[in-house]
Amino acid sequence: MEIEPAEEVKEPPRIHRLDESVVNRIAAGEVIQRPVSAVKELVENSLDASSTSISVLVKDGGLKLIQVSDDGHGIRYEDLPILCERHTTSKLSKYEDLQSIKSMGFRGEALASMTYVGHVTVTTITRGQLHGYRVSYRDGVMENEPKACAAVKGTQIVIENLFYNMIARRKTLQNSADDYTKIVDLLSRFAIHHIDVSFSCRKHGAARADVHSVATPSRLNAIRSVYGLLVAQNLIKIEASDNDPSSSVFEMDGFISNSNYVAKKTTMVLFINDRLVECTALKRALEVVYVATLPKASKPFIYMSITLPPEHVDVNVHPTKREVSLLNQEVIVEKMQSVVESVLRNSNESRTFQEQ
Ligand code: ADP
Ligand code: MG
Repeated sequence: MEIEPAEEVKEPPRIHRLDESVVNRIAAGEVIQRPVSAVKELVENSLDASSTSISVLVKDGGLKLIQVSDDGHGIRYEDLPILCERHTTSKLSKYEDLQSIKSMGFRGEALASMTYVGHVTVTTITRGQLHGYRVSYRDGVMENEPKACAAVKGTQIVIENLFYNMIARRKTLQNSADDYTKIVDLLSRFAIHHIDVSFSCRKHGAARADVHSVATPSRLNAIRSVYGLLVAQNLIKIEASDNDPSSSVFEMDGFISNSNYVAKKTTMVLFINDRLVECTALKRALEVVYVATLPKASKPFIYMSITLPPEHVDVNVHPTKREVSLLNQEVIVEKMQSVVESVLRNSNESRTFQEQ
């Protein structure tokens, strides 16, 4: 009688703790997915620092160089040693603060992440100082003592060789259409919302900036200077609000395109409590309204700024804060639909009337 070979018993693999540097690099790859994500984090930091002017310079789609300069409050010398450590922030202290947070940032992860996937150099000066400091970081720590240097008001952050240590990602990004278009798009969005701040975005070596906005009290002016006259002259102002705690509480104001605006794809610029976010449900819902009311202009341009009670918005659902989750989202989406619909119908009727 033959003996069957004993089934091979697999030993369970051992579990071990990952090295902190490995953990940090994995996390960094998630926060900084592409060059445009780094630009978003840096510009939001500049906004949080009360800047009135923010300029962005990009080389090689952001892979070679991203430079963001602002005229904000700067960073204290004493804070430079921990500036790029993970979970160091000036914006949040206890978990409960998240409920009412007004700043864009709060996770204290962006700068740290950048130092794990690129070479970061910070130049900064705070008010009343005669000179600034410059220091470079790698893997969360300073590479050298901060050096005194000449500086104008604010902070300049430079990231070089993004993803130098992530070969696969660098390759995909190099092969894909470059991120510069995405960066220009991002800055355009910021520029039409934060109209009290001047923005510029320029490709390295280019004489002209691709986004160039100056602070203005008029949103329409800002839209004109960023998106052009063809967009600006075909917009209708919209406003709506609700104050019924049993259904929804919000305020909304914005601009939507009229029947003369014809485009290949929808542009939806959405800010919720001053955060640039995406909300696919709302975008689709509004497209449906356009298809039904203005079939020939069914790819609209929409700028909307929605303000909700902070406790109705969960900002912490996504590491890049690209999405937020809203209380009563369905009710709000339906209300926006009906406002847009009635505005479009009215404008269409008055147009037909004028033409007659
Ligand atoms: P977070 O924005 O979540 O706090 P970051 O890693 O983006 O985390 O930034 C860490 C800290 O560095 C911020 O809390 C802020 O105090 C400081 N900081 C970053 N960028 C700037 C800037 N441009 N101007 C002034 N302070 C800055
Ligand atoms: Mg930040």
